[in-house]
Amino acid sequence: MFQAPLPSEYAELTDDLAAGRIEAAKRALGSRLVVLGHHYQRDEIIRHADYRGDSYKLAKDAGAHPEAEFIVFCGVHFMAESADILTPDSQTVILPNLAAGCSMADMAGIFQVRSAWKQLAAVVGVPESPPPTPPSVSEGTNHPPKTEGGAPVVPVTYINSAANLKAFVGEHGGTVCTSTNAPAALRWALERGDKVLFFPDQHLGRNTAYRMGFDPDRDMALWDPFKPLGGNSADHLRQAKFILWKGHCSVHKRFTVEQVERARAEFPGVSVLVHPECPLDVFKAADLAGSTEYIIKTVEAAPAGSVWAVGTEINLVSRLAKENPDKTVFCLDPQICPCSTMYRIHPSFLCWVLENLAAGTVVNAVRVPEAIAAWARVALQRMLDVGP
Ligand code: SF4
Repeated sequence: MFQAPLPSEYAELTDDLAAGRIEAAKRALGSRLVVLGHHYQRDEIIRHADYRGDSYKLAKDAGAHPEAEFIVFCGVHFMAESADILTPDSQTVILPNLAAGCSMADMAGIFQVRSAWKQLAAVVGVPESPPPTPPSVSEGTNHPPKTEGGAPVVPVTYINSAANLKAFVGEHGGTVCTSTNAPAALRWALERGDKVLFFPDQHLGRNTAYRMGFDPDRDMALWDPFKPLGGNSADHLRQAKFILWKGHCSVHKRFTVEQVERARAEFPGVSVLVHPECPLDVFKAADLAGSTEYIIKTVEAAPAGSVWAVGTEINLVSRLAKENPDKTVFCLDPQICPCSTMYRIHPSFLCWVLENLAAGTVVNAVRVPEAIAAWARVALQRMLDVGP
């Protein structure tokens, strides 16, 4: 998304000046405003958040404040889209910097996904004609469990994906998942079809299916959108239970087994805790793996004196270390690894959108066209129905 440069008054603000003006704008807006902050945001943003959470928790928080006219989402574009889809038209969702995208979400474009679906249709018989209109969420969104000869492929997309991909999934009988509810979502999908097409993050799909007892070589195929049949033989696609889109998170793919081994050598007794967007070998080498919320709860509940090497985004790890001073918490990767797109939400941008709102001008609203939102809402509602 294109983001116009900030007016120079904002571009030149120091963090301290911005903080004072942000708080003043928040006071002026009162209950008309809710500010959501993703855990990967820098401290200078998180201090202004009314709620912090991962994408799953924030998607629920966004829908829990019908009284707020404005939801300012300090996160990335797909999160603001999901919040817009899940909230009524009377609420406006705002992303402080429209250039805050997600490189993983960008790895699965809708045209590539439609092409993959067509190719799979030729090999495994995917149904080509979805129902013409989306059900309203109040009519219920769950497809019944499969009977004999159920859907050959059920699409599941990670919440880290564009709204048009979520719509595709809703339209084709699938669901959205998060790193929190990925096991439940995959079980849900396998109750309704023979195979799962999972995108955009191959690692979350592979790690989750591996933990469910599936074999990465026999039961999983990797779909490279730039190759015919995703780079697979037709036989392998017919045999696979999971077809994993070749996407990844540029932050979490940096973690390695060597880093795990180094942490164990330097800190005997260390517990290694990683996010499931890490590669499978790191996932296997760690002591524990789970979503951002799981990582936070695990460290918070750990005994004083315990030592944690954490494989996830650096802003979250640094905050965990600060908020748990009785424990040793450090990032598994000694090089700093922030999410560069999350980092685009700078205090100056937050100040700019809030002062505009306080003055009666809406800037940077994220609105998903209803033709896309209707089916995306179906897929997101299935995610909420599947639960954590
Ligand atoms: S951490 Fe990875 S998945 Fe999350 S927003 Fe950044 S690039 Fe996307």
